[in-house]
Amino acid sequence: MAPAIALNTPPDMELMRLALRSSTLNHGLRVRGDRWTAEILMGSFMGLRKFEDWNSLLGISRATLTKRLNQLLAMGLLQQRPYQERPRRHGYHLTQAGLKLYDQVLTIWVWEKRWGSHADVLPSQLFHKACGHAFVPVLACSACNAKTGMNDLHFTLKPVAALLDDSTESTRSARVEMLQNSRKGLGMRVDRWTLLIVTAVVLGCHHFDQIGHVLGIASSVLARRLSAMVDEGLLLAQPDLTDARRFIYRLTPASRDLFGYLVCFSTWASRDFLHQPSSIRPVHKDCGKAFVPHVICSVCHEPLLPWQVSFHVN
Ligand SMILES: [Zn+2]
Ligand SMILES: [Zn+2]
Repeated sequence: MAPAIALNTPPDMELMRLALRSSTLNHGLRVRGDRWTAEILMGSFMGLRKFEDWNSLLGISRATLTKRLNQLLAMGLLQQRPYQERPRRHGYHLTQAGLKLYDQVLTIWVWEKRWGSHADVLPSQLFHKACGHAFVPVLACSACNAKTGMNDLHFTLKPVAALLDDSTESTRSARVEMLQNSRKGLGMRVDRWTLLIVTAVVLGCHHFDQIGHVLGIASSVLARRLSAMVDEGLLLAQPDLTDARRFIYRLTPASRDLFGYLVCFSTWASRDFLHQPSSIRPVHKDCGKAFVPHVICSVCHEPLLPWQVSFHVN
């Protein structure tokens, strides 16, 4: 196995390919990375319980909704509880394991409010009952509690042997989902490939060939994907001054803002889902500790718990 190496320029593409392939982010996104699953979970934290509510509010087809809800039940993130005897009907509730997704949901809300197209159906204002103030969720280092952004971290890469297995099956289904481009409902216009491409750029891949190599995406698919991300304001394509045929891809403010979600998702997948270390290891420069994110209240700086937060929806 390749040793952990601090990232330099130019990046070590082979190390990066193995690290991305075996990342908890990649494996977690395969099962939980489609937009519907993210939206169903956001809905749960907003109090949706009934099949019909997701169906009408999110505009998810009944077949897709049934499939995704069953998957979330199987993963132990939701559980069924009866709310009506005759005819017997069940509601879907977050389990203890499901409640651990709260940090991710808060980071999505922050992102959607700033950059999304469905801010109107999401909470417009969050209140922290513990301190009594309206607040904004803030990404912080759980070791030193300081507010932390992407530039406050450095990354080392160490591929995880147990997660290097690749299944063509899941790659194929991810491609099919990638081609579906529905914009209905709450939420994220970003999906698994978008998040993986953003991660590759965060780690230092800025050219078409580099991104294609480290993610193992076919050129035609990647070309479509990158141009869609440029159109959506998630990437900037700048001419490469050293080679006029090439572009340099850079993050935009909107894609930089996805970092909170990426790091919370990756940490959850490592700690609570796959029980494997992450191959992408951020370190907080200021305190020198391995960076484990938590989301805190902008007013009192305490970690946020779902039952201590109330909200308005417009
Ligand atoms: Zn720290
Ligand atoms: Zn507070």
